[in-house]
Amino acid sequence: MAETTPRQLDVLIVGAGFAGLYLLHRMRAVGLSAHVYEGASGVGGTWFWNRYPGARCDVESMQYSFGWDEDLQQGWKWSERFAGQAEILQYANHIADRYDLRRGITFNTRIAAADFNEATGSWTARTEQGEAIAARYVVMATGCLSTARIPDFPGLKDFKGRTFHTGWWPHEPIDFTGRRVAVVGTGSSAIQSIPVIAEQAAHLTVFQRTPNFSIPTRNGPMDDEYEHWWKDGYAQKRVDARRTRTGILNRQSPQKAMETAPEERLDVYETRWKSGGTSFMGSFADLITSQEANDSAADFVRAKIRQVVNDPKVAELLCPTNHPIGTKRICVDSHYFETYNRPNVTLVDVKNAPITHLTETGLAWGDGAFAEFDDIVFATGFDAMTGTLTRVDIKGRGGETLKDKWEGGPQTYLGLMTAGFPNLFMITGPGSPSVLSNMIVSIEQHVDWITDCLVAMKSRGMATIETTPDAEAAWVAHGNVVAHKTLYPQANSWYMGANIPGKPRVFMPYIGGVDVYRDKCDEVAAQGYEGFRISQPAKVAQAAE
Ligand SMILES: Cc1cc2nc3c(=O)[nH]c(=O)nc-3n(C[C@H](O)[C@H](O)[C@H](O)COP(=O)(O)OP(=O)(O)OC[C@H]3O[C@@H](n4cnc5c(N)ncnc54)[C@H](O)[C@@H]3O)c2cc1C
Repeated sequence: MAETTPRQLDVLIVGAGFAGLYLLHRMRAVGLSAHVYEGASGVGGTWFWNRYPGARCDVESMQYSFGWDEDLQQGWKWSERFAGQAEILQYANHIADRYDLRRGITFNTRIAAADFNEATGSWTARTEQGEAIAARYVVMATGCLSTARIPDFPGLKDFKGRTFHTGWWPHEPIDFTGRRVAVVGTGSSAIQSIPVIAEQAAHLTVFQRTPNFSIPTRNGPMDDEYEHWWKDGYAQKRVDARRTRTGILNRQSPQKAMETAPEERLDVYETRWKSGGTSFMGSFADLITSQEANDSAADFVRAKIRQVVNDPKVAELLCPTNHPIGTKRICVDSHYFETYNRPNVTLVDVKNAPITHLTETGLAWGDGAFAEFDDIVFATGFDAMTGTLTRVDIKGRGGETLKDKWEGGPQTYLGLMTAGFPNLFMITGPGSPSVLSNMIVSIEQHVDWITDCLVAMKSRGMATIETTPDAEAAWVAHGNVVAHKTLYPQANSWYMGANIPGKPRVFMPYIGGVDVYRDKCDEVAAQGYEGFRISQPAKVAQAAE
């Protein structure tokens, strides 16, 4: 393919989800030339791709939204407490139009590779179509949950019916009326889509390997009074949210579960259950650190499942017992457990009788069991956190690839950079609070930090910034220590890479808290970017000689 002249940018941004959009806006405001490349045909990232029935946010919309423009946050009206995918995508499009971002985005174009040039201290990236782009900095705003994955079932290609993955859902409406549908998986996307698909399908069969804890959302139209409460002093509430462990104002109780009388404890759980959503995990301060406390919350939820589901055998299958509550991303639902009382819904346990293969007409499991289907929906998740990054052929110093460097698990300093890859930033990368938080809060914090860093680099006439191996090693070690003070590593979760065969078992996000983490990042910047090596242009040239 003929070489085209490299575009010369200050900053190449990969991805046009909320992270890429906000970063482009900030780059323009500080006078750095930036351009976004996006594989999709539109903006919105997660909300562009995940169009499955029932898709919605699990952090309330008043909080799952940008907080950096008072006019924007006062003017935007969410129609529901937890907005659906279409409305969140509409919001992303509104952001793109309101801040005139589209002219800075090339759509339908994936970045396939990026090479660091040690002589110039800058990057040359290449699109899948072969276009070369030269940029001093590259920011991977590629998302933590943007590489959908279907397990490699034998016979997958033989199946003649329709197949879908929740994370690559078609743009046209999909009608399941009168059809025999299988849903494979019972994670968050399955829990959201199953009740909606069940209403249409002639019959729905759910293939469950691991049951998950789920809390009712109690979703409904946005309450005017509630919206006014949020918007009155919105800016301060956003500041307060940033000072929490999760980036969510959810009335986290300081009280410990086991220091609370049993009846009072049940009352607390009941109140949180009734008000709905992930704030259930804020019932007590020690739910993710004390096994006993966690058991009390898990027992409460299991009792609710048994109350809701009529068939005791089905109820038992739906009760999670192999991980502490909250150590896999807690799901929220609208009538998920009730759906199993419908006569057109069957639950198949594939933990002990795994799916063996697909045929032209259906799915086989266990010791010879088989059922025919018209449609199979794979709600089988993502190669989370690292998969999207390592799929790009990124080469740092000495030609080392990111994929090779992370073979034993991701290594970063603050989840922002990885040693040996100067001028390459990640947004919500492994080693940052990321998927354990309200991700919009974490995205804003990373974008602001990176922006300040690049402005400082420019004003000091510096050419490259990279983390030192020592700082990185210390951060990875600290991340492990903090994670192992909690119950999280007990779960075979995608936080641990456990959903991908062969992926190293490392707890990837930083669990120390959004508040603690923000302080650390601010302190590092205030100390002149402690843990980072910053070079002048002349030094870059000398180092390469
Ligand atoms: C179904 C679902 C529900 C969720 N709900 C919540 C929620 O309620 N609260 C919450 O905090 N988080 C939630 N999340 C997490 C969600 O991913 C983040 O909140 C947020 O949308 C991430 O934004 P982002 O811009 O970082 O990444 P994304 O939205 O993932 O965008 C990344 C973009 O990069 C593009 N891209 C990737 N690689 C390349 C490449 N090589 N070249 C070009 N383009 C590329 C992708 O096409 C994608 O458009 C949810 C995730 C899913 C899947």
